Amino acid sequence: MMGPGSFRGKAAIPMFPTTTHSGATFPECATIFNAAGRDANEKSMIDPFGRTITYLRVSVTDRCDFRCVYCMAEEMNFLPKAELLTLEELDRVCSAFVRLGVKKLRLTGGEPLVRRNIMTLFRMLGRHLASGELAELTLTTNGSQLVRYARELYECGVRRVNVSVDTLDPAKFTAITRRGHLETVLEGLAAAKAAGLAVKINTVALRGVNEDELDDLVAWTGEEGFDLVVIEVMPMGDIGGENRLEQYLPLSLVRARLQRRWTLDESDYRTGGPARYVTVRETGRRLGFITPLTHNFCESCNRVRMTCTGTLYMCLGQEDAADLRAPLRQSEGDEPLEAAIREAIDRKPRGHDFIIDRRHNRPAVARHMSVTGG
Ligand code: SAM
Repeated sequence: MMGPGSFRGKAAIPMFPTTTHSGATFPECATIFNAAGRDANEKSMIDPFGRTITYLRVSVTDRCDFRCVYCMAEEMNFLPKAELLTLEELDRVCSAFVRLGVKKLRLTGGEPLVRRNIMTLFRMLGRHLASGELAELTLTTNGSQLVRYARELYECGVRRVNVSVDTLDPAKFTAITRRGHLETVLEGLAAAKAAGLAVKINTVALRGVNEDELDDLVAWTGEEGFDLVVIEVMPMGDIGGENRLEQYLPLSLVRARLQRRWTLDESDYRTGGPARYVTVRETGRRLGFITPLTHNFCESCNRVRMTCTGTLYMCLGQEDAADLRAPLRQSEGDEPLEAAIREAIDRKPRGHDFIIDRRHNRPAVARHMSVTGG
C-alpha cells in the first residue's frame, strides 16, 4: 500500500509566483498546491493513503419509519428539522463533490424516502447523470415508500436500489423493525421491478433471529432476480435494551452453512466497499458478505459519508469529522466548501477498528448507522 507521503511528490514544485525576465510576476501562471502538494483545481480527491475518493453517501434525514432492533432504540430523539441542510443545500454539497471527482452518489438515512419533497433532490441531482459527470445515483431504503416512488426514481435516473429485508416472515419482520409490514415492502419491491430498477437486498445476519432463514433468502432473491448482501451486525449507536453480543453472528459461519446447499463461485466483482462477492451457481445471482468485524476492507475504501446536518465522516468507524455546513453557509460561492472538503479528505484515516467481545459490549462508535447513513 502507498504510504502517506507517497503521492506528495508534487510538493517539490515551488509555490511562488512565476517571474518573467522583466521581473513582473504572474501569480495566475503558478499552479496553486494545497498542503498535501496537490493542485487545488484538480478534479480528483486523493487521500493520504493514495485512495481516490469517488463515492459519497449522504444521509438526508436521521428519521425513519422503522426502528430496527440492531439500528435504533425504541425511543429515539431525532434532530430538530431546523438543523438539517435544506434540499437546495444538499444539492450544493453533492454537486461540489461531483465537481471534485465523485462518480457515485447514494442517498440514505434514516429512511431517505420519508424526507419531505425528497424527489426534488433526486431530480436536481439527476442533471449530473445527464451531463455524464456522475456515473450513478442510487439509494438505500427500507422499501416502505417504494410503491409510491419507484417510477419517479427511475425517471430521475436511478437504476438500482438497495432495499433492506432481514426476514420473509411477516411477524418476525414486524418484530425486527418494531413497526414495519413485510407486505408493504414486498409490494414496493414489485413496484421497483416493474419500474425497471435493479434491486439488491441487504440482510443483517442476526443470531437466533434470521439465521435459519438465510437459505430461503438466497432462494427468494434468486427467484426474484435480486442480488443479496448479508451484513454482520456493527457496533454502532446505543440500541437501548438490545444486546449486540446476542445479535452477533459471524459471517464465516453463515457462509459455511450456505455452502451446504449452494455452490458459491468466487467472483472478482468489487465495489470498492466492504462487500466481498460470490456468485450463487444455482441462481446465477451475486451474493455479497459484509464482514467489517472479521475482515479489514479499508485498504480499498473509496468513500466518505455526510450526515443530514452537513457533517462529513471520512470513515464509518471513526469519530473524526469535518463540518461542511459552516463553509456552505459562509458564502454563496463554493470555494470555502470545496476547500473544507479537500481538507477533510486530507484527514481520511487509514481504517477503523470495530470490536465486539465480552469486554467491549458497548458501541465502538456512539452515533447510529442512521446518522452516518448505512
Ligand atoms: N432506512 C434505510 C434502510 O433501511 O435500508 C437506509 C438506512 S439503514 C441505516 C442502511 C442499512 O444499514 C440497512 O441495510 C440496515 O440494515 C443497516 N444497518 C443499520 N444498523 C446496522 C448495524 N448496527 N449493523 C449492521 N448494519 C446496520
